[in-house]
This record gives sequence, structure tokens and C-alpha cells, in this order.
Amino acid sequence: MTQPVAPARDCPLCPRLAALRQTCRTANPHWHAAPVPSFGDEDAAVLIVGLAPGLQGANRTGRPFTGDFAGVLLYQTLLGAGLAEGRYQADPADGLRLAGCRITNAVRCVPPENRPSTAEIEACRPFLAAEIAAMARLRAILALGNIAHNAVLACYSVRRASFPFRHGVRHRLPDGKVLVDSYHCSRLNTNTGRLTKAMFEAVIADLAAAARASG
Ligand code: SF4
Repeated sequence: MTQPVAPARDCPLCPRLAALRQTCRTANPHWHAAPVPSFGDEDAAVLIVGLAPGLQGANRTGRPFTGDFAGVLLYQTLLGAGLAEGRYQADPADGLRLAGCRITNAVRCVPPENRPSTAEIEACRPFLAAEIAAMARLRAILALGNIAHNAVLACYSVRRASFPFRHGVRHRLPDGKVLVDSYHCSRLNTNTGRLTKAMFEAVIADLAAAARASG
């Protein structure tokens, strides 16, 4: 059977995350509180891979990085680089469109404390692998953080030691696609100065250039 790109709304593979989803639905019936679908066209040349939905962000709104701190920096930077069009207003109804770019998460359901377990990352990996396989024009992947980086590597069954995570570095994957690494655009990383706006803009510009060069 072919692995679907999108998990079912009541995907049961991670009992801890399924329980948290149900708790969210009960407390907030208007929240998305389900696996968050990818955003952007499947024929895009760029795929951005985040960690997992934020509790009050994508888990609430249903669109990746929408409604939480990380989304402000991500979408503003994509708009500046020409990888998005319109205006980001932290609402899936804001009309924002991605241009040649798609966004997904290594883990599709919100994890407690933003920390998925190893088993949960592995359980969700087939959806990420199917996502990558379904993108026929994909040229460049951006991993936001070490967990996303390792999840992408696992989709290719390559050794982590051969592709160490390092902010701003490009890796050449076995099928010729480029993997670009960035620190996650989280509140923690930006507040501590680990990731500055300028650093993130440089990575997104390099990502767009890598996609063009590989095309
Ligand atoms: S994280 Fe992925 S595998 Fe786990 S329950 Fe959600 S959709 Fe299913």
C-alpha cells in the first residue's frame, strides 16, 4: 500500500500525542487540534521542514507556523525573499500564498513542551518521506533545527555522521537535492541571539539560490 502524504485526522500512531489532541479539542472545540497539513504547492522546488506544530500556533490554527512567534520571522523572511506573496496576519484566512515553496513538519501533531519523543519522530517519518517523494520538482530542503535535519536524513537512510547539522551549511543528498540547515526560528533561539534576523535572512536567500541552481 502506498504511504499517504497526509495522516488521518485521528492518526493513532502516537498515543501520547493523540491524547493531547483530544484534550485540546475538548478544551477548545474551535481549534484545529489534529495533524497539521503541509502548506504550499506540491510542485514547489523548496520544502521547509519544521519540528512540530506549536500548541497555540499551528495546532490552534491548522496552518504550519501560523499564530505563534516562529511564524512571524519565518513568513516575513519568506515574503522578503519572494518565496511568499500577500500579507502574513497569523490567520489561515489572511490570503498569504507561498511561491515555489512548501512547508511541513517532521512531526505533524503538537507534542507536549515542543518535545516529541524519538518514537514519535520515527512514527511520523513515513509521512515526511512521502511528502518528499511526492514533490516531483523539489530541489532544496530547509531543515529548521537538528530534529528536522535528522528526520530528513532518515528519509534518505544516510548516516548522520556524514551530514552533521550546522547552521547555514548546504549538504548534497544522494538524489542530488540540496539540504540546507538553519537553527529553528523559535522564540528561544531569537531571544538568546543564537539566530538573528540577518542570519535567518541569509539562510533563506541561500535556500532560494540553491533551488534555482539545482533547477
Ligand atoms: S505525530 Fe504523526 S504519526 Fe504521530 S499521531 Fe500525529 S500524524 Fe500520526
